[in-house]
Amino acid sequence: MKSDPPSALAPPAQIAKAALRRLAMDKLEPTPEHFARAYAQEAGLPLPPSGPAASTAPATSVAPTLDWAALIERLARGLERGSRQWTGARKKQSLQRVLDGSRHDPARLHERLDRLVASWDGGTADTEIEPSAPMPLDDAAAPDTIAWPGVMADLSATVQQALPATARELADALGQAARRLALDGATNDVVLEIGSLCDRSRRVLVHNRHLADELGTLCRAMTDSLGELAEDESWARGQIELMRERLSGGVTARGVRAAGDLLQATRVRQHELKREREQARDALKQLFQRMLGELGEIGTHTGRFNDQVQRHAETIARADSVQGLTDVVQELLGETRAVQQVVVSARERLHSEHARAALLEQRVRDLEGELRRLADEVSTDALTQVANRRGLMQAFDAERLRQADGATVLAVGLIDIDNFKKLNDSLGHAAGDVALKALAGRVKQWLRPVDHVARFGGEEFVVLLPDTAVEPAQELLTKLQRQLSASLFMHDGREVFVTFSAGVTACRAGETLDDALERADQALYEAKRTGKNRTCVA
Ligand code: GH3
Ligand code: MG
Ligand code: MG
Repeated sequence: MKSDPPSALAPPAQIAKAALRRLAMDKLEPTPEHFARAYAQEAGLPLPPSGPAASTAPATSVAPTLDWAALIERLARGLERGSRQWTGARKKQSLQRVLDGSRHDPARLHERLDRLVASWDGGTADTEIEPSAPMPLDDAAAPDTIAWPGVMADLSATVQQALPATARELADALGQAARRLALDGATNDVVLEIGSLCDRSRRVLVHNRHLADELGTLCRAMTDSLGELAEDESWARGQIELMRERLSGGVTARGVRAAGDLLQATRVRQHELKREREQARDALKQLFQRMLGELGEIGTHTGRFNDQVQRHAETIARADSVQGLTDVVQELLGETRAVQQVVVSARERLHSEHARAALLEQRVRDLEGELRRLADEVSTDALTQVANRRGLMQAFDAERLRQADGATVLAVGLIDIDNFKKLNDSLGHAAGDVALKALAGRVKQWLRPVDHVARFGGEEFVVLLPDTAVEPAQELLTKLQRQLSASLFMHDGREVFVTFSAGVTACRAGETLDDALERADQALYEAKRTGKNRTCVA
């Protein structure tokens, strides 16, 4: 086997290996002096002085029982062979470490070299030679001889752990690169690949941190607005304070859980408010019924009184004596007093009932205001159970993040019910509400799970269709319009038909939702202008 001597610039381990090979070929014992000479020869350095004692001293005088020649042969063979566990680079590192640690103690050098070769042969790591923990001080390796593949495996496992489940492919590639590094050493390809994988990992982790920060901002904003909402209400104040405290140091699992709990509490509170409002409405209805009863009673009394007055007027006209007149007047006075009492007590009752009605009315108004504000705080529209404006913005932002590369398209559609005012006027506001609910449900059913629908206000809805160009989006909404030619819901046993007009547009890269909606609104106007129940494109 032929090999060029390494230069003085070659790594020490490589020179040492060549020096050992030289000793074996020259059949010289590897005494420190021989080794130093061979090393200097291989490295092209000035030769150290070699006293006769050094060159001629019998091996037995150093270590009578040590078989250096056999060991060097094994060493040389071992260095040639590669194995999964012991790569060439790793063998050189461990050899260097043994030489550095025991060069002045031939017996120990022999023993450690022997163990090293045995561990190469056995494919196992010798923990004393190749420790995973720091080496003892006297044997401590120079920093550049640390087992880098082991360190890389550790670091790669840590990064793999930190990567989110969505980056599984990247995590696997990183694991494979770490294994390749352990097997083949730091070849150019592996180094380049690891560099690019680390780049990608960093981007994913930075993005994750950004998401966590956004989540924190959202939680804080929610906490603040719920705090304002709670004002004097004790039901949420304690929880809100706790959440603010938890979120003050950034997003934590506990903080996010607290936000979830608070939302749940808000939902429960909203249900309570709804129930209270319904009860207040019922009480108000009963009150009006009682007031109508009172008015009816007064009417009966005054009606009867009118009849009496008429009768007495006739009696007076026919009266031919003062006594007769006095009797009639007495009777009339008695009846007047009775009616007066009925009217006074009824007026008092009506007065107090009116005060109660005003109170109840105020309560209903307060509760409705509170419900509206609560509905604003959460992202779902209370009537239709689809997203509200807030939910729409969240969905839009999420789509924008997903489309960060700008390669995909997003269609935005604006839907407006036709002649809705007429429907309200002819069937009543409650039927209008049923129409809104039914239409929202129908649109949601019609769209794919990845699409979004939101109530934009009144009888307008917005749809977001990811990965959909504007033409297919127009087709989709037109098909839904045809499908609605079947009745939307029943009212008083009669089928009610509802149509809508729509405008769609393709949301441009970097554009705000408001800008896209502005265009969709122009297309919607075009659809209304040209006959309604159609979808136009802008
Ligand atoms: P067009 O075909 O041009 O769209 O006419 P339109 O009657 O649908 O439109 P317009 O904007 O004139 O009327 C919208 C009506 O929607 C007016 C409002 O009373 C009603 N509306 C808004 N929100 C609600 C709601 O929550 N429930 C009910 N029942 N009606 C609502
Ligand atoms: Mg409208
Ligand atoms: Mg309308």
